[in-house]
Amino acid sequence: MIRTRFAPSPTGYIHIGNVRSAIYPYLIAKQAGGKFILRIEDTDRARYVDGATDLIMETLHWLGLDWDEGAGIGGPNEPYYQSERKEIYHTWARKLVEIGRAYADPTPPEKVDEYRKADKNAKIPFLFRNHRPAEADLSPEETMKLWEAGAPLRFKAEPKNYSWHDEVMGDLSTGPEVLDDIILIKKDGLPTYNFAHIVDDFEMEVSHIVRGVEYLSSMPNYLAIYEALNIEHPKFVSLPHVLAPQGNKKLSKRDGAKSVVDYRDDGILPEAMLNYLACLGWNDGTEQEIYTMSELLEKFSIDRIQNSGARFDETKLLWQSGIWIRKIFDEQGVDALYARTEGFWPESAMSYPEKYRKKILSIVYDRLKVLSDLRTMTDYFFETPEIDLEMLTRNKFLKKMSEQELAELLRIVSERLSEIKDWNEDELQAAFNELLEKTAKKPAELFSLVRISTSFAPFSPALHLTAAVLGRENFLSRLNSARSALLNDGM
Ligand code: GLU
Repeated sequence: MIRTRFAPSPTGYIHIGNVRSAIYPYLIAKQAGGKFILRIEDTDRARYVDGATDLIMETLHWLGLDWDEGAGIGGPNEPYYQSERKEIYHTWARKLVEIGRAYADPTPPEKVDEYRKADKNAKIPFLFRNHRPAEADLSPEETMKLWEAGAPLRFKAEPKNYSWHDEVMGDLSTGPEVLDDIILIKKDGLPTYNFAHIVDDFEMEVSHIVRGVEYLSSMPNYLAIYEALNIEHPKFVSLPHVLAPQGNKKLSKRDGAKSVVDYRDDGILPEAMLNYLACLGWNDGTEQEIYTMSELLEKFSIDRIQNSGARFDETKLLWQSGIWIRKIFDEQGVDALYARTEGFWPESAMSYPEKYRKKILSIVYDRLKVLSDLRTMTDYFFETPEIDLEMLTRNKFLKKMSEQELAELLRIVSERLSEIKDWNEDELQAAFNELLEKTAKKPAELFSLVRISTSFAPFSPALHLTAAVLGRENFLSRLNSARSALLNDGM
């Protein structure tokens, strides 16, 4: 049975750099008919952020990474919050005490700091085991007493070589120099990540640990604990870093890694986010770039996860987001895309009927990168734009004409369009084509003039489409206002 988990610490939002630690285990479990677990690693009370767990769950739901067991829904290994599993860790820690592999450490933290400094000055790597206190040799009973009196519990390392296999990094090995007496249970009675995850993954029958490569250096210590407890370890799947856009460092909150939720609020579709992140450091060996969740479930495989860092590229994310917006529209229709646009329209749009907004959506959707582009790209459909003559007179296609000339062109356009009986796209298209001939202007000239005069926006869809949606009266009145403004200005 394949069982994987996402085990976030609720220390803040989930940023772009760590979502793959949720996506990949989800795919691994789901493609094998296994279970995906959400475990909240909240034993570091100092770094605990209120509300972070809710935000994590919201993010996972939004991405479509629903879990089968875990926080919020329960399951056979409850509780799924580490802070509520204290007794379980203590039971496992006692086993280590009983076999002489854990000791209560009375060394005050200031002393530990002194050791660290002294080793640094002597240029030797700091290992606590080189400063192991005499209490490390107490009997299990005495150790229990000292532990109960509030001393933290440490692992008693036995330096030796380890070799193991990582599904992404291959065969690895280390020497004894990395093994140390790591803390298992802190002074506050809560376990460290190092100990808790081992216990939990075992109890929860996790088959694959999928996590960031930053844990690799602690692997020998973990292997030593598995060995001491005489339990089998899961498979290890270490994910290389997501790199910041520049340089060779890992993308982090400090480097401006945005929260996944921020991208959601910008109007990136969850499908696009999932697609982009899944392919950040993974590919199926083909040129394919757009994957639906079901394609990912079909094609994802651990052995094609890259073992080097993958660079985060927001431009590519936005490009894929645009593709997904078009994909939803083209495959599922305007209603399906419209249903995603709530909250992304300009405020002025809300007093218009849905039908009108849908019409607009169907002529602008192919230019959207994120849904919030609607706010800036469609406002002239809902409000009469302010006339900005400079936008006309400075336009690269129009600047060689005088204001009188521009006004005269607008008069001709207006006259021809007024003759249209049935104001629709086809009639409008025909009229614009005729006007090109009649005025002997280039399309870029005539259409820029009409486009700007009726929208005063940097972008608008094809003229006949815009005109059809705006309606006869509105469109003609905008043309006439622009014309009057040009004439007044030119006088
Ligand atoms: N709580 C750890 C973190 O948030 C999880 C590491 C793991 O998946 O084991 O980084």
